[in-house]
Amino acid sequence: MPAELRIEGVPAAALARRFGTPVFIYSRAAILARLERLRRAFSRLGTSICYALKANPNRAVCRVLSEAGLGAEVVSGGELVRALAAGFAPGSIVFSGVGKTADEMDLGLRRAVLTFNVESAEELGALERVARRRRRVAPFSVRLNPDVKARTHPHVTTGRAEEKFGVEAALVLELARRGHRSRWLDFKGLHCHIGSQIRELGPFKRAAEAVARMLRRLQAEGIPFSLVDMGGGLGVRYGAEPELDCAQLAETLEREFSPWPAARLLVEPGRYLVADAGSLLTRVLYRKQTSRRRFVIVDAAMNDLARPALYGAFHPIAPARPRSGPSHRVDVVGPICESGDFLARQRLLAPVEPGDILVVGMAGAYGFAMSSQYNSRPRAAEVLMAGGHARLVRRRETVADIVFAER
Ligand SMILES: *Cc1c(COP(=O)(O)O)cnc(C)c1O
Repeated sequence: MPAELRIEGVPAAALARRFGTPVFIYSRAAILARLERLRRAFSRLGTSICYALKANPNRAVCRVLSEAGLGAEVVSGGELVRALAAGFAPGSIVFSGVGKTADEMDLGLRRAVLTFNVESAEELGALERVARRRRRVAPFSVRLNPDVKARTHPHVTTGRAEEKFGVEAALVLELARRGHRSRWLDFKGLHCHIGSQIRELGPFKRAAEAVARMLRRLQAEGIPFSLVDMGGGLGVRYGAEPELDCAQLAETLEREFSPWPAARLLVEPGRYLVADAGSLLTRVLYRKQTSRRRFVIVDAAMNDLARPALYGAFHPIAPARPRSGPSHRVDVVGPICESGDFLARQRLLAPVEPGDILVVGMAGAYGFAMSSQYNSRPRAAEVLMAGGHARLVRRRETVADIVFAER
C-alpha cells in the first residue's frame, strides 16, 4: 500500500484539516527546484527568465520568483499591478497581449516596463499616441506569428497564421521600420510565443528559425535590435508523457541566435515553473454507483480546477491516506450542475470513503488562476509551504465576497 501523501513533509490530510477544502497548496521548494533546472539549462546564455504571471498570479507565489531575481511577463494592466506589488522590477517586465487598451499602455509607460510586445499595426499606432501624449518614448517589440503548428490542445496553440496572435513576417519589418523612424517609439526586437504545454522541441526550433530569418532582414536594413523574446509554452508532465527537455531547448535557441551575441534572449515560462509545485486538496462527499459508472463526488469542481473540463486535461489524483482494498475505475466529479464538471474520468482509484482527502496533483499552474465563482461557489483558499511551514496566502472566499459588488 502506498504511503500517506505529504507536501514538504507535512501530511496532506493534516493540511486539509487545518485549512479546510478545497484548498490549493504550493511548495516554495518545488518552485525553486524548477527554476534551478531552467537556470542551469540556460546558464551559458545570460538569458532573462520572465515569469508569465497568468499561470499563477498569487502574490506569495510571485514573490518567491521575484526574490529569486526573475523578471515578469504580464498580459493585462491588472497583472502589471500585481507584478509590481510582488516586487518584480519594472525594467524586467514585458507587457504582452493582443488587446492592450490605451489605459493599460499608459500604465505600462508610466511604470517604465522593459518592452511592450505589439501584435498589430493599429496597436502600434495606439502605443505611439499614448507615448506622444505622455511625452515618453515607448519601447516595443513586435510579436512575430511564425505560422508554426505545435502539437498541443487547439485552445492553447497561438503560433499559426489562423490565430489572432502576432503579426505575419511581411508586416513585422514594416512595424520595425515605423518604430525605428518614430520619435515616440523605440524598437527593441522580436517576440514570439507559439502556444502552451508544448513538449516537443520541433515547434520551438521552427519558431526560432523564423525569428532568426527576421533578425537577418532587420540587420540587412540596418535596424538595430537588443531583445529576442521566445515566449513560454514549455510543456510539463501531467501523466505518463515526457516533458520538454529544457536543456535541449536552451541549446537550440543558443545555436539559432549565436550570430547575435549582444541581443538579450528572453523566455517567458509560466506553467513550467509552477505546475508541479501545486496540489488541490479536496474532500470526498459521497460515492454513488449507476448501472454504468461509479462516481466519487468531491467538494472541488470545475470552478476550482477548470483544466479537465476545458481541455480534457489529465491530473494525477490519489487519496491522501490510502486504504487497503481493491481499486475501481471511477469518475471523480464536483457538485456543479454540468456533466462537464469532472476532475477525472474512468480513473483507477484506490478505495475511498466520505470524508477522505484526495490530492489532485500538478495543479499549481492555471488552477486557481482560472477558477471562478460559477454556481456561486466561493473560491478556494491558497497556502504556501516554505521550509515545512504552511502559510495561508489567500483566504477562502465567502458568499459575501461573491455578492459584494452587486447593487
Ligand atoms: C501564456 C503566455 C506565456 C506562458 O505560457 P506557459 O505555457 O504557461 O509557459 C508566455 N508568454 C505569453 C505571451 C503568453 O501569452
